[in-house]
Amino acid sequence: MSLPIVRTVADLRARVAAWKAAGDRVGLVPTMGALHEGHLSLVRLARTRAHRVVASVFVNPTQFAPNEDFDAYPRSEARDAELLESAGCDLLFAPDVGEMYPDGFATTITVSGVSEPLDGQARPGHFAGVATVVAKLLNQAQPHVAVFGEKDYQQLQVIRRLVRDLDLPVEIVGGPTARAEDGLALSSRNAYLSHEERLVAARLNQVLREAVAALNAGERVDAVETRAVDALTAAGYARVDYVEVRDAADLSRIGPGPADRPARILAAAVLGRTRLIDNMAV
Ligand code: AMP
Repeated sequence: MSLPIVRTVADLRARVAAWKAAGDRVGLVPTMGALHEGHLSLVRLARTRAHRVVASVFVNPTQFAPNEDFDAYPRSEARDAELLESAGCDLLFAPDVGEMYPDGFATTITVSGVSEPLDGQARPGHFAGVATVVAKLLNQAQPHVAVFGEKDYQQLQVIRRLVRDLDLPVEIVGGPTARAEDGLALSSRNAYLSHEERLVAARLNQVLREAVAALNAGERVDAVETRAVDALTAAGYARVDYVEVRDAADLSRIGPGPADRPARILAAAVLGRTRLIDNMAV
């Protein structure tokens, strides 16, 4: 049995409606494909919360800036479908760009506040693209629960805000970051790394772990952030977009003194031509 694939909103809705009519809870796991163990862990997590799981694979052009890697982004639908099926997914929704953005499409959702710092600054327009496509996917699939990775922590908080603000009737669940043995967060973009870069890539998570230890020992936020940026630069990262300690819920600034409330440390840095992100709880 191979995984059923639907490509239109109408077909997706018909499948989901049949499940709901049978009394099933439905889970959604949105992705951009090139799936890895991180995505599959979210599918398995969705399975624990729902009887039926839909995954979507859509490389969303509106969340890429013109200078970013939309064209180069890895695409591997047949393999993705096999992996999804092995993880217990029931349906793949794989629309094309015309299905998601028909002629005349004119609506953009912007989430203020939480989407403004960090990646919001480094990637202008990115979170408006994410919020709009996620609002569409939630409205298209109408799941009871949708699962997103903590790997993209700011995205997860933007989506939580979006769902609260628009009263979308869905529970948002965050899944832990799946990592390689050396700590590197799994990412579809890791495929861009050369062998040498792959060795340096693990430094990102090591630096964050060292920073968390220092923060938990009561060190000042400003000193920890500066040391982390310096460590990444010394390790060979071409550019460090940010290493910042932020409020764990709304991502507002904390510090410069010791962290005094639940916090998250978030980082983005460029290695060769690959932009890596990671974050950890403090
Ligand atoms: P993407 O395909 O990169 O857009 O990611 C789709 C979903 O998978 C998002 O909710 C991501 O946060 C999540 N995700 C990506 N990488 C990981 C990972 N290493 N661990 C857990 N979730 C992940």
